[in-house]
Amino acid sequence: MRKEFSKPMVKSIWIFEWINSCGFSEVLPLDSSKFDMERFGIKAVSSPRHADCLLIGGYQTLKSIEIAKRIYEQMPEPKCVIALGSCPISGGMYWDSYNTVKKVDKYIPVDLWILGCPPRPEAIIDGIISLVNAINGGKND
Ligand code: SF4
Repeated sequence: MRKEFSKPMVKSIWIFEWINSCGFSEVLPLDSSKFDMERFGIKAVSSPRHADCLLIGGYQTLKSIEIAKRIYEQMPEPKCVIALGSCPISGGMYWDSYNTVKKVDKYIPVDLWILGCPPRPEAIIDGIISLVNAINGGKND
């Protein structure tokens, strides 16, 4: 865990979503009544300036990763980043495009990778809760 998280998180985690392309298909249901992420203390916010955590997913292009960097820079400390799906790890099925970012963590530090193409909503919620637990030193387990 990065040193910025020297203190436990004593509030719900506020997330900002920067998800391109088909990766968004499994993020939208997080807000639905079926998955209802707010019951776990996970809240989506519309400004990076209010966010504790950046969810970055989908394939990133050389252009879109520059926007992602600006979003990350606008977030207040302490902040964390969760990368969703195979595309941020390797470029996914677009890996051989001249314009696809192969590894998002070359541009933004990533605290947690959630695998899948795309990851299921349950996996995303589980990953966010695991990260909050890690920040809190396991106190919320
Ligand atoms: S990981 Fe799969 S679902 Fe997500 S953006 Fe890449 S191809 Fe689409």
